[in-house]
Amino acid sequence: MIDFSLTESQLAVRDMARGVASKIIIPKITEYDRKQEMNPELLPAMKAANLLGFCIPEQYGGLGMDYISLGLACEELEYGDTSARVILSVHIGLFSLPVLTWANEAQKKKYLIPAAKGEKLTTFGLTEPAAGSDAVGIQTTAVKQGDHYIMNGEKMWISLAAVADYFLVFAWTDLEKKKKRDHSGLSAFIVESKWPGVSTGTLHGKLGVRAGNTGYIAFSDVKVPAENLVFKEGAGFKIAMFCLDQGRYTVAAGSCGLIRACRDACVTYSHQRKTFEREIGEHQLVKQMIANMEAAYEYSTPLWMKAGWLKNQGKRSTKETSMAKWIACREAEASAANAVQVFGAYGFSDEYPVERFYRNSKGASIYEGTREIHTLMQADYVLGYRKDRPIEHDLPVVEQG
Ligand SMILES: Cc1cc2nc3c(=O)[nH]c(=O)nc-3n(C[C@H](O)[C@H](O)[C@H](O)COP(=O)(O)OP(=O)(O)OC[C@H]3O[C@@H](n4cnc5c(N)ncnc54)[C@H](O)[C@@H]3O)c2cc1C
Repeated sequence: MIDFSLTESQLAVRDMARGVASKIIIPKITEYDRKQEMNPELLPAMKAANLLGFCIPEQYGGLGMDYISLGLACEELEYGDTSARVILSVHIGLFSLPVLTWANEAQKKKYLIPAAKGEKLTTFGLTEPAAGSDAVGIQTTAVKQGDHYIMNGEKMWISLAAVADYFLVFAWTDLEKKKKRDHSGLSAFIVESKWPGVSTGTLHGKLGVRAGNTGYIAFSDVKVPAENLVFKEGAGFKIAMFCLDQGRYTVAAGSCGLIRACRDACVTYSHQRKTFEREIGEHQLVKQMIANMEAAYEYSTPLWMKAGWLKNQGKRSTKETSMAKWIACREAEASAANAVQVFGAYGFSDEYPVERFYRNSKGASIYEGTREIHTLMQADYVLGYRKDRPIEHDLPVVEQG
């Protein structure tokens, strides 16, 4: 039976993240969103609050907390700003948890421990200039030469690309399978940003997530030691899908924080603003928009919690995670659009946060599986075209915190 009550430790993680959002993110978010830069105080604050590795087991430098704690932290950080939640999505969801699951002991010691302690920042590189949803369309190659691979290619739209130390990179190791689009020719590697031939850059002019770094990573004849291959050759596609199961979960929970931020901003403004000699909150059509936000929060939250509950037991939750991500992102977009409406002309200005919520909400319906990809997945499950097989590797069973 699913139990939604929170333990003391889960509440403590939530409060830590809430503290970072209220003290570090919210006071300066308009400034950094305008500058399109990361707040330099954010990562040190997240590290000090143990937010960069709390759901990694203690033996690998974390606090051994569970997936529900991860969801709660994502919700609180995104209440502050989407860019802060994105850090947890890529660093924990798309790098650390997959490395915990798929990497060997030496790789965990070398890369997971510093990541969990917050000494090194990490991210995930799958998307390329010509391939996003269609992961098998990537062009990056890693050709084996003795005790290393030579990597060439470019990754695009990568969160934290220009600031991360380690990347989980997906590349073709079997060029014959690449020609046939056979995903069993894809492999995953841990690549260090400082290696010769690796270059990174930041993308500017984004619609949202402006206070976060998004960029590209280019590989030009990069010598990747064979010991940095994760699991085995040909496992890259399965590892990438596993990564997305964790990353999508963080986006779902984070989007609930965005819905709540929209609701709270609208409640405050609706009491302040008067038209026709009444608070606008007294008008039924404004009530409708706020009621929809409240409903969206209430039905989106149990969806990510159900996925987290399954993950805590080490069970596959691809369907549940996809559903949670699809619905929460859809509702966050609708809530943000209505929040701008509730604020009238002031919603059209960055004097208030709702225009930022509106811009940020759009990204989540694109990354970690677009709205269309999740729609197709859900239809395919019920139509019987898609069935999840247990993966050939045990998922980590994370103790309830
Ligand atoms: C802010 C941000 C951060 C990101 N961070 C990362 C990151 O850290 N790492 C990373 O690897 N990637 C990252 N991405 C990339 C993201 O995952 C991709 O943008 C996403 O997978 C979609 O791919 P695409 O942009 O190439 O769109 P495309 O795949 O080209 O899709 C274009 C349109 O066609 C639709 N479409 C595609 N295929 C189908 C289909 N079969 N049926 C119906 N419709 C379809 C899509 O839904 C979309 O509307 C990030 C993107 C953004 C915006």
